[in-house]
Amino acid sequence: MHVDRYAPSPTSDLHLGNLRTALAGWLLAKAAGGQWLMRVEDLDTARVRAAEGVEERQLADLHSLGLDWDGGVVRQSERLAAYRDAVARLQTYECYCTRREIAEAASAPHGDGYRPYPGTCRDMTEAQRAAKRATRPAALRVDAGGASCTVLDAHAGEVTGNVDDFVLVRGDGQYAYNLAVVVDDIAMGVTHVTRGADLLSSAPRQAWLTRALGGTPAAYAHIGLVTNARGERLAKRDGSVTLGDLFTRTSADVLAMLTASLGLGPCRTTEEALGAMPGDQRFFSGAVWDGGQLVAVSATSRMSMT
Ligand SMILES: [Zn+2]
Repeated sequence: MHVDRYAPSPTSDLHLGNLRTALAGWLLAKAAGGQWLMRVEDLDTARVRAAEGVEERQLADLHSLGLDWDGGVVRQSERLAAYRDAVARLQTYECYCTRREIAEAASAPHGDGYRPYPGTCRDMTEAQRAAKRATRPAALRVDAGGASCTVLDAHAGEVTGNVDDFVLVRGDGQYAYNLAVVVDDIAMGVTHVTRGADLLSSAPRQAWLTRALGGTPAAYAHIGLVTNARGERLAKRDGSVTLGDLFTRTSADVLAMLTASLGLGPCRTTEEALGAMPGDQRFFSGAVWDGGQLVAVSATSRMSMT
């Protein structure tokens, strides 16, 4: 059974890029006769509280496009005991490094800005730890032992990445994204993960952690992002990018624009889009939002224009 999930953070309204990725995941799951689950990633309680009403709007926007989910909504804020239990089963150590210290000690950041942790605090003596602990709250890192991990992506193929000793619990006590995602995906029986291409580089770490916790890593489909005309990731400053902003268009109009940008042609219902699957190469590519139009970008479409 193909089980995918959509996992929005309820801190800002979904924009066209988010909706496009959600639609892609829904289509892949339903075309395979599978399930599409909903998980609200609301661990950052301060930001969530400051964004009142966003979760309701996100779910309403998905529903209005016909992207209905199977089962109830899982909220990460209600799953803290599961994260605590998972941490207890892993080999971990405390880390006292500041962001700046890691930046100075680490090798150059990856393309996504992520700096692999160099292991500074791995081999401290207990006396050193006691002294450090008095100066700042410790984060908890997993001891990955210099592992690497290969994941399978529907578009990128096999992707191998090194697994550093990444954070499981932040210094402020909040469970880290990589931990919560993995624990939830295992608990929810997720077999396929469709999400934005910006998360591709975190997939090897998450797949490694999945195995460390006794689970089977999901197959991935990382979907290209929607950018503005300057190639920057779509954001609020780019004007009308949420369903609320696009109120002059019907949900069917927006859906047709999204399906066209996924290479399925303009479909005005999700049923119609499902009938157009599997579509073409553009399905996994990004798109550009320019002048009220959403245009798919891919090597294929560029070549066909010349
Ligand atoms: Zn450290």
